[in-house]
Amino acid sequence: MSTPYRGRFAPSPTGPLHFGSLVSALASYLDARQHNGQWVIRIEDVDGTRCTPAYSQQILTTLSSYHLESDEAIRYQSQHSDLYEHYLEQLKQADLVFPCNCTRKNLAKHQGLHPNICPSQISQAHSWRLKTSNTLYQYTDRIQGLLSFTEDLKHNCPVLKRKDDFFSYQLAVVVDDHLQGISHLVRGADLIETTAQQLYLYDIFGWPIPSIGHIPLVVNSQGDKISKQNHAKAIMDGDLQTLLRALSYLGIQLEGADNIQHALSQAIPLWSPERLANITQMPLASQDQTFI
Ligand code: GLU
Repeated sequence: MSTPYRGRFAPSPTGPLHFGSLVSALASYLDARQHNGQWVIRIEDVDGTRCTPAYSQQILTTLSSYHLESDEAIRYQSQHSDLYEHYLEQLKQADLVFPCNCTRKNLAKHQGLHPNICPSQISQAHSWRLKTSNTLYQYTDRIQGLLSFTEDLKHNCPVLKRKDDFFSYQLAVVVDDHLQGISHLVRGADLIETTAQQLYLYDIFGWPIPSIGHIPLVVNSQGDKISKQNHAKAIMDGDLQTLLRALSYLGIQLEGADNIQHALSQAIPLWSPERLANITQMPLASQDQTFI
């Protein structure tokens, strides 16, 4: 029996929802609905220094104004530290992580990467890092085709728990996707670079790897992601024109939709990830400059 389709949109509430995030939310939603699957929203607020409850609320209000509603109660990562601790403990028992006292300044000479296990003291403030692997990861991305990661895990031991006790995105995202039974990830191509570490964690825990598809990223004229760091604006709530423009970046041109609900239901059968094959970036059209 095949596993039921369960997709998700998992924003980090470090700012309001911007145009690029709406495109990602729509891609995961349309894919789930086309498969008659479930779609859930998860708030990835593990980083207590950058995420705020006000942004979580604002993002959810905006999603709801576009009729993008979670099929289940929304999961907040900030409420599940005990679970991430449990899985970190398993990695400690298996000697797959090490404590690290390195500072950002120490790591500057390696461009911020942490290539080797360091002789750190567990008695001092420390993070927990994953031991490096020489495994070559390859997987077939539903949208980008065959992706190979030969170097990613060789030269970096990622942080799983920070010195200030916050868990990293890498550990939390894998644990939650597994525990929530997520079968399909559809997300932005900026996250391709996190995938090798996630595949490694799936392997260590012996969990099945979900189907993964990375949609092209909407970028500004400098080729940068539309993001909070680049001062992306909050999108307007419940605006049909914004929705239609966002759908156009997924290759869906609608005519005659007179409201958001209608537009979404017209878009579901038209969603075709094949149209985005092998494209990692889409420049923002001149008419859409107002979104940034
Ligand atoms: N929380 C991540 C972000 O907002 C996305 C995680 C994912 O889709 O895997 O960039």
